[in-house]
Amino acid sequence: MQLPDAPWLYDPALQRVVEALKIDGQPPRIVGGAVRDALLGIAVADVDIATPLVPADVIKRLEAARIKAVPTGIDHGTITAVADGRTFEITTLRRDVSTDGRRATVEFATDWQEDAARRDFTINALYADPESRQIFDYFDGLTDLKAHHVRFIGNAEQRIAEDHLRILRLFRFHARFGQGAIDADALAAAAKHASKLMALSRERIADELRKLLSVANPAPAVQVMLDNGIFAAFLPEVVNDAGSKLAKLIDRETVSASNPSVGRRLSAILPVDATIVEKVAARLKLSNRLRTDLTYLATNANTDQSARQLAYAIGLDNARDLVLLNSNEENCSVELASLENWDVPELLIKGGDLIAMGLRAGPVVAKTLQAIERQWVAESFPAEPRVTEIADQLVEVALRDDKKL
Ligand code: ATP
Ligand code: MG
Repeated sequence: MQLPDAPWLYDPALQRVVEALKIDGQPPRIVGGAVRDALLGIAVADVDIATPLVPADVIKRLEAARIKAVPTGIDHGTITAVADGRTFEITTLRRDVSTDGRRATVEFATDWQEDAARRDFTINALYADPESRQIFDYFDGLTDLKAHHVRFIGNAEQRIAEDHLRILRLFRFHARFGQGAIDADALAAAAKHASKLMALSRERIADELRKLLSVANPAPAVQVMLDNGIFAAFLPEVVNDAGSKLAKLIDRETVSASNPSVGRRLSAILPVDATIVEKVAARLKLSNRLRTDLTYLATNANTDQSARQLAYAIGLDNARDLVLLNSNEENCSVELASLENWDVPELLIKGGDLIAMGLRAGPVVAKTLQAIERQWVAESFPAEPRVTEIADQLVEVALRDDKKL
């Protein structure tokens, strides 16, 4: 079996790295996602490389070849090579000597099969010679890849006990590559150990959750997770009908050719309650951006504003997300269309204009300006001469009030 020929194999940056790491003419091997994705005929994102060379030698050789070496994960034997602006993760073959479910103590190795054995799924443990393109498959990953079967290497329960994050990785990789039901042993082991997810760092959990929600269609996997108590351990807020809510959202994303968005999808599986989503965002240490987006989406879920009015208030992306999440079937495409090729307008009247129209400088100016803006938004952003008309009317009201005082 060979890796299909593809242009990325001829990337001069990759070839320089491969050349630098040859041992007696033997190249290092490409491993993991790149091999898996290339075999599936999908675009290869990152190229990870495995080598029997110890990290110090990897650094020495890269530097001798004038390739920048960054010790990004040196404890686990990972060096990032930066060649011609492209990055490659180079990891020394290793075995995990002790594991506690959260972190592993590793020992470097020289045996490819041993390195394969410490990886999670059979489809993630395929290696390829970058020159001959020969595939090395120690655990029948090719058969599983063909069957779209996401299967742990070895005993599922033991592999999950070694690293609890693998519970979430199971659902992510199944959602991405699996067909049919999830592996029964793996699911049983995941359900059994779900409560251990609590002990993982929130960053690792949030990162996996983000990746799970980014796959083309995570809805069925999310429902299986819910039914098996996986969310209970780290995200008990997830609503009971998360699977169907997510499925409906994904249908709409597909029909409207919208890019997937983690915030929008997370919002679909959480209660419509700003206090709760704030709590989730804080607990999982989500980015400020994600946190404000989630809050906007919860706060404005039941709005009676139009899509454009929402966009004016909370930005185009959030408005689009709210339409995808909440509008009814008939309105969805019309409202989305109203945001296409539309720039959020700006009210062109400023405080100075109101003073020129006779208002006294002071709080009344800001107050009147706000009233003008409210009216202009309520009328869906009319252009001139209507803006001046609104301003005239409201300045007049303000002047009248002023005289009364
Ligand atoms: P993606 O396209 O999502 O990046 P990937 O297969 O490259 O997929 P990574 O999370 O980048 O996944 O990990 C790279 C490789 O490292 C995996 O293919 C797998 O062999 C191994 N790996 C990563 N995390 C684990 C883990 N928690 N347990 C065991 N092996 C792991
Ligand atoms: Mg990867």
